[in-house]
Amino acid sequence: MKLPRVKIYNTLSGSKEALQPLNGKKINLFVCGPTVYDFLHIGNARISVIFDCFVKYLKQVGFEVFYLQNITDIDDKIIVRAKEKGVSPQDLATVFSDEYFKEMASLGVTAVNKYAKATDYIKEIISQVQRLSDTGYAYQLLDGIYFDISKFRGYGKLSGRTALQAEDSVSRIDYAKDKRNRGDFCLWKFETPSEPSWDSPFGKGRPGWHIEDTAITEHFFGPQYDIHGGGIDLIFPHHEAEITQMESVSGKSPLVKYWMHVGFLTMNGQKMSKSAGGMITINDFLKRYSPQQLRFLLAKSLWHSPLDYSESTMIEVTATLERFSESLRKIKTGKKPGRSAGKLKPLFKKAGEDFYTTLADDFNTPKAFAVLFEFITQINTMLEENAVSKTDAGKIYQFFVQINRIFNIIDFKKLGKTTIPNEVKGLVKVREQHRKLKEWVKSDEVREEIEKYGYTVQDTRDGQVLKKI
Ligand code: AMP
Repeated sequence: MKLPRVKIYNTLSGSKEALQPLNGKKINLFVCGPTVYDFLHIGNARISVIFDCFVKYLKQVGFEVFYLQNITDIDDKIIVRAKEKGVSPQDLATVFSDEYFKEMASLGVTAVNKYAKATDYIKEIISQVQRLSDTGYAYQLLDGIYFDISKFRGYGKLSGRTALQAEDSVSRIDYAKDKRNRGDFCLWKFETPSEPSWDSPFGKGRPGWHIEDTAITEHFFGPQYDIHGGGIDLIFPHHEAEITQMESVSGKSPLVKYWMHVGFLTMNGQKMSKSAGGMITINDFLKRYSPQQLRFLLAKSLWHSPLDYSESTMIEVTATLERFSESLRKIKTGKKPGRSAGKLKPLFKKAGEDFYTTLADDFNTPKAFAVLFEFITQINTMLEENAVSKTDAGKIYQFFVQINRIFNIIDFKKLGKTTIPNEVKGLVKVREQHRKLKEWVKSDEVREEIEKYGYTVQDTRDGQVLKKI
């Protein structure tokens, strides 16, 4: 298979670049995974879903991808939370890493080849700290071993800065007062009684946050690899520190060819976060919506732009997916043989080409989905005119099956059945109450709400009758 010319936005250069792996069509990809001390919210899920879709896309167009993700199962956040809960940090981390695997399974995130827990790579971490100490990049203080950023000339080359800003993931800056430079970060923290620790040549202790990732990637990929992903809040200091450590250890540059940073999921313009309140866990979200609805919500915007979540966004998501499903249902169950007019063939060809071309250009999902909407609108008209043959209907259906292998936004198993969204069912019940109480204005308002989902209600002597618009 000839590889398409794929471009992606690279934080390192600040521009879109042609994706040319270091080794033919093989791509080594590493994405920062969670610190396992709590349930994940739907903002965290954005990264998981984006990279799940991106990897499935790359594979579908001919790349071979090895997708590695770390799990931070030893960290200050885990230790603090474990103390609050009166359990050991190890037990807390096990509970929430198991929970994470369940969350990913419920979301259909299946592209990751290997989840690597930090505590399984202590030997590799110690080896890196040792090499950095031996070569003079690291120095020792009372509470741990630190990296001296003044020794690495490229410090700041990813983020374009060397100091913190408001939105950085700051919770893990190391504040020892005797540090040589303000930005020096801890590689190995010396033992504190009652906290987990491991033996090392420099003394008992535990790893700093940044060194986990480079130890794991060096183990699997060596000193250089193709793509590193994560949230934009990780650019500084976390990813900057990864470059600094690993390029110092290996003497090879760049550590990573393409850096992909996913934008925040916001709510009322604010980053969704555990600390800011107002977050929605994946588990809670999936009580109201399907995994397909969540995946479509997270995948429909450009991956490095912010995505604002609101109830009205979900109305749009629900209505759009329902429109897709309705058309596919018609395509699948249409009984009449029909005869395809000559115009279908070029339309179909163009839709397929445009869809994959837009994805090749910086994985532009909003444009790619727009291509599909346009196509489905044209197909709907042709279906009404009975101008789609059974053979062509089968081909169109297969096209959507193929696309769904990337995005998993349509539940094909449920297509045969007419599925009225739960929200609509709930609104019909609410309207029934208003009708009983003769609250006609409120009843009309609820009807308008229902119409936003693409349904309408008619009042008959036997009660409300729900219809698709
Ligand atoms: P945290 O648990 O806050 O350390 O976040 C874990 C991962 O999720 C990091 O890679 C963050 O960049 C990412 N993340 C956290 N909050 C959001 C959000 N609101 N939108 C997108 N990504 C997020």
